[in-house]
Amino acid sequence: MGATGKDLTQSAQARSTVGTEKKGIVAVKTILQLGNPGLREVAERVVDPAAPEIRVLVADLGDTLAHWRASTGYGRGIAAPQIGVGKRVIFLQLPGAEAWPLVNPEITWRSADKIVVWDACLSFLSIFMQVERHREIVVRYQDLQGEWKEVRAGEQRDLSELLQHEIDHLDGILAIDRITDMRTMCTREEFEKRYRAGSPYAVAATKR
Ligand SMILES: [Zn+2]
Repeated sequence: MGATGKDLTQSAQARSTVGTEKKGIVAVKTILQLGNPGLREVAERVVDPAAPEIRVLVADLGDTLAHWRASTGYGRGIAAPQIGVGKRVIFLQLPGAEAWPLVNPEITWRSADKIVVWDACLSFLSIFMQVERHREIVVRYQDLQGEWKEVRAGEQRDLSELLQHEIDHLDGILAIDRITDMRTMCTREEFEKRYRAGSPYAVAATKR
């Protein structure tokens, strides 16, 4: 938020020593929880995706997501604002796939067709809900070399809904803002007991 490149470098250095759970070279950051105003801020565009502080940020996102995945069984994607960094960077780690950082991602096309899916968030993992998403989208983004790329995402591997969730974070929008019916809201325990098998969170996320 209004930080200069110098500030960012300093904060990247600060982050590597403060608020960091050190496990070798792994840096697990605290994930902001629902109610933290940082989750509601609009993130800034990244001017130079190849900058060292963006590499540090992507490594932090990867380590933090891996930690949550290992300790909770949830976590396919994470957005920079969730670890308190107001930059337009998201990071996906789909089961069995390569780590996938997306810088300055923007949705350039949305299908008129929509779907209703179960969703949750590492920023409020105790609550699950049904949300509405576009069935297919096209996303334009930069890789860590700054090269522009485009991906068409559909229901395969639940990629479309995942990208919509993470890109929403960059605009301060949370899954709870997309609830179709408040009565679908449930606790994690009830979700796992009743609905998980038919959701994107099923262990082998290969349905559809
Ligand atoms: Zn989230």
